Amino acid sequence: MPKEEAKISVYDHGLLYGDGIFEGLRVYNGRIFKLEEHVDRLYESAKSIMLTIPMPKQEMIAAHVETVRQNGLRDVYIRSIVTRGVGSLGIDPRSCPKASVIIIVDKISLYPAELYEKGIDVVTVATRRPSVDVLSPRVKSLNYLNNVMAKIEAARAGAFGGIMLNSEGYVTEGTADNIFLVKKGIIYTPPGHVGILQGITRDTIMTMATESGYIVKEEVFTRHDIYVADEIFFTGSGAEVIPVINCDGRVIGTGAPGPITRYFIEEYRKLVNSTGYTVFTS
Ligand code: PMP
Repeated sequence: MPKEEAKISVYDHGLLYGDGIFEGLRVYNGRIFKLEEHVDRLYESAKSIMLTIPMPKQEMIAAHVETVRQNGLRDVYIRSIVTRGVGSLGIDPRSCPKASVIIIVDKISLYPAELYEKGIDVVTVATRRPSVDVLSPRVKSLNYLNNVMAKIEAARAGAFGGIMLNSEGYVTEGTADNIFLVKKGIIYTPPGHVGILQGITRDTIMTMATESGYIVKEEVFTRHDIYVADEIFFTGSGAEVIPVINCDGRVIGTGAPGPITRYFIEEYRKLVNSTGYTVFTS
């Protein structure tokens, strides 16, 4: 249905309590990138919060393809949402008989191209990422206030992005992107247990790096490691691979996107333009 006609009940628990989950996908030239992986993660998030998605995975995949097809544009963003559904005003999910499924396909607003050439500056924010025993960041839930607070802090500090630490001071991720560090040619990214969303772009880069002969290590690291890194970059479906060239006023490496970051920016772009779930054949 058209954007203006799409409506949701004010009694939907997705709105009332952030009780739900979501995914963000990209369509490149009529092909949905990593569709199965995103749908798998959606069903894993659902399972973790005991939310029954009222359709099998294959039907969900078909619904994504059909929504993109009806939208008609070849380069778009998809936001898939499953909420607990319409219920009473209490938090008890048992008042919600059926989950609501929403698939939005819209134009994507990309970051300016110059950010990929020059890199972005970031700050570490005071808002900590919840630990895995509080609310696992692996669940891509509709509760994004933690990330929103971090984003506000970064913006107030005049930075483009924010890096979130966990309660022990270890680096977790950006406000909505994963983080990678390069030191002496080795690539590091924080492991799942520090409290991160295990990004699909992160997985893609880790595989690509290993296949290209790089050593990739999932290791915990601190702010100090960021300050003295040779290269830092963020990854995410929206941002793709974006260089970070300053953190908390410390210049990273040479202050310009490094060779390994630039390699992944290029390779990732090649991959997204040559693979994916085909919606439009001509
Ligand atoms: N971390 C968080 C908190 C996110 O919301 C996202 C998605 N924007 C990512 C990391 C990156 O995940 P993906 O590569 O699957 O888009």
